[in-house]
Amino acid sequence: MSKSPQDLKIAILGAGMGGLTTALALARQGFKHIDVYESASDLGFVGAGIQLAPNMARVLDRLGVWDGVAAEAVDIKETSVRVGSTNTELAHVDLHHITQTYAYPHMVGHRASLANGLYQGCLRHPDQITFHFATTASDITFPSPSSSSSQPSFTATPRDPSLPSSLITTDILIGADGIKSRTREAMLSHLDILSSIGVQDTNQAAYRIMIHKDQLRPEDGDILALLESNKVVRWIGEKRHIIAYPVSNNTIYNLSTTQPDTNFAAATNATYTTKGSKEAMLKVFGDFCPLVQRMLQYVGEGEVCEWKLRCHDRLPTWVDGSVALVGDACHPTLPHLAQGAAQAIEDGAVLAVVLSRLPETSAGAVHRALKAYEMVRKERAYALVDMAAASGRALHLGDGAAKEERDKQFAALRQGRGPVPDKWADADVQKEIYGFDCVKEAEERFGEYFEKASL
Ligand SMILES: Cc1cc2nc3c(=O)[nH]c(=O)nc-3n(C[C@H](O)[C@H](O)[C@H](O)COP(=O)(O)OP(=O)(O)OC[C@H]3O[C@@H](n4cnc5c(N)ncnc54)[C@H](O)[C@@H]3O)c2cc1C
Repeated sequence: MSKSPQDLKIAILGAGMGGLTTALALARQGFKHIDVYESASDLGFVGAGIQLAPNMARVLDRLGVWDGVAAEAVDIKETSVRVGSTNTELAHVDLHHITQTYAYPHMVGHRASLANGLYQGCLRHPDQITFHFATTASDITFPSPSSSSSQPSFTATPRDPSLPSSLITTDILIGADGIKSRTREAMLSHLDILSSIGVQDTNQAAYRIMIHKDQLRPEDGDILALLESNKVVRWIGEKRHIIAYPVSNNTIYNLSTTQPDTNFAAATNATYTTKGSKEAMLKVFGDFCPLVQRMLQYVGEGEVCEWKLRCHDRLPTWVDGSVALVGDACHPTLPHLAQGAAQAIEDGAVLAVVLSRLPETSAGAVHRALKAYEMVRKERAYALVDMAAASGRALHLGDGAAKEERDKQFAALRQGRGPVPDKWADADVQKEIYGFDCVKEAEERFGEYFEKASL
């Protein structure tokens, strides 16, 4: 009897949003042999919020995990863009229409809640998905043309030194191993283009801050009002901004900043995060309004965490043989459009669709299906990476003609006209991002893309 696609052995490197979604989506398509390898000993819950845009919600709902994630999230109904130094409102955008227009709300939540929702979804398929936590993948190897095998392989090394490393051979290898992806590096090296694709230093870094409701002092009623609201607020200034919103059923106020990268500029550590100094953080936003100052004061000494924001050059391909890249491994982005995880999640969902439609299971067919995945995903993901960078440039303008033009656009908005320079809140941008159903596109156009991949 011939093998069905669902019998293929699939190894996923990385259990971030991209890896978890890929595993869950494949299991729901009936794949039986899915192994997920993750260096960390657990899901590594970072204390930070995340925007759950309608395009992400649509995918999560199809995977049966949206209701759980949404139950802990906050439904955003409005957004306000303000001058950081004065708290003067530049623009107010009503978002009540989002659910009606896109069938899903724009929510914001806790990263742990999203990761855990996906993980719990995976745990419902114990016969199909096996997790290997505290296990690092290395030495990713592509089959050589002279080899009789067409399978990629890698070494899986458990963190526990008493356990042996093993050589894993697999039919399909998915590199969902994040911005510093070893799979990406191995692929570019195998394609002999590693030296021509560089890391882009964005010169930006971010602080992530969470204020818990029970921390709030009675005199900070204005912060409490924000925490209990359904609003995203962005305070902008030259080269810096802060975006803030409530998460976890309005019990935590989440702030994410962007500022020039000075702490990492000289040397980058392994995780792209560093313990920051509260004093330095307060100084960066020293000319922001008293409300912002009071919020930043809530961060405990020693609890300041700073993330380096990095991107890399566009990759000419996300696929080599039976190996494909997912998420930040192939399209890392600045966070200004809040679409990094959403795009990783779209990747995983599309991968499962194309692999489930394989007409046969040869390595050649697998490669063509993976190329179909790339055709659905690559242009869209890179368009959003560019848009996030452009939005950051507009938000961070210093005095001059460009800023005057931007502020004219904000002023026109108050009269209900024109585009929103903060692209995240722009109706046309939302239509492009939220209105696109990646799963439908993959389902409807798989045949066409699969054919094209053989050319
Ligand atoms: C400040 C900031 C704010 C953001 N806000 C938003 C937002 O609001 N909305 C949104 O959609 N996105 C947001 N993002 C982007 C989002 O967090 C990322 O795009 C997303 O998490 C990428 O998911 P991933 O699965 O590709 O990679 P990751 O989440 O990085 O996961 C990769 C995993 O692979 C593991 N790994 C790495 N190497 C190996 C190896 N060799 N072997 C085994 N395991 C390995 C890692 O431990 C990790 O768990 C934000 C990002 C930043 C920096």
